[in-house]
Amino acid sequence: MDYQEILNNILASVEPLRSEGKQATYIPALAMVNPDHCGIALRTLAGECYAVGDANVRFSLQSISKVFALALALHLEGDNVWTRMGKEPSGAAFNSLIQLELEHGIPRNPFINAGAIVISDILVEHLPQPENRFIEFVRALSACPSVGYNYAVALSEKKQAFLNTAIANLLKHHNNLHGDIDRVLQFYFLMCSIEMSCAELAQAFLPFANHLVPFDYDGVTLTGSQVKRMNAIMQTCGFYDEAGEFSYLVGLPGKSGVGGGIAAIYPERYAVAVWSPRLNSKGNSVAGMKALELLTTLTAESIF
Ligand code: GLN
Repeated sequence: MDYQEILNNILASVEPLRSEGKQATYIPALAMVNPDHCGIALRTLAGECYAVGDANVRFSLQSISKVFALALALHLEGDNVWTRMGKEPSGAAFNSLIQLELEHGIPRNPFINAGAIVISDILVEHLPQPENRFIEFVRALSACPSVGYNYAVALSEKKQAFLNTAIANLLKHHNNLHGDIDRVLQFYFLMCSIEMSCAELAQAFLPFANHLVPFDYDGVTLTGSQVKRMNAIMQTCGFYDEAGEFSYLVGLPGKSGVGGGIAAIYPERYAVAVWSPRLNSKGNSVAGMKALELLTTLTAESIF
């Protein structure tokens, strides 16, 4: 498969779409990013790396980090995680409060904000230095020691965190947030603020593409079964109220973020990351979704 040629064609094809949609502005620091960027990187388990466009420019991972946080929580707590949240698609916006109230403080899944805030609570509860432990794990996954938090982005999000603070309060009311609300949110915002390039992000997702080899990064271990099941949750819950659409158009497990990034995996073959900051109304990258749709169409490779 000539992935390089395919990525070149995809970049050219999505060019007209790059001006569609709107970059996230509710986190003021994200509004300052040049919205015209577009990059794609694909890494195979065989060790090849293909890249086009702005594949080496770092961007804010935002909700994509929730995959790494879930991995660390599953390592620490195993199936106990599922006593505090579900594994069902939400069909609602990533920051929705309605479902959380109706379902008595049990988030639908770990990839909506409510679920990721509970995961943050688990990590803060377990780890003496959660921010350090988390970034070391992510550095090991991405094989990149210079990956880090963007403190300005985290602070910018904190200053406008009305909805996430409401979610945390609702969780606390239902006894599903054990720690101090401000402390847990501090971790959550930092976790979302991690920056990587597409090339680094594709590397960080590669371990999730292979449940057949032992997962062990900086001492964070998962069984093959846990990795496989994480893919199932990415498939059904990775794109909020557009998870069905992504599954229909792309057919790969993946995760998006409001920074405009999407990471996806083709099990036993590759991990791919795309970035284009302009988002559709569901908070997913317009050009990024199209690029991945073209990738699985042109290669005729998807999980279906
Ligand atoms: N930090 C963002 C928030 O909580 C993440 C949202 C996202 O990427 N969908 O709103």
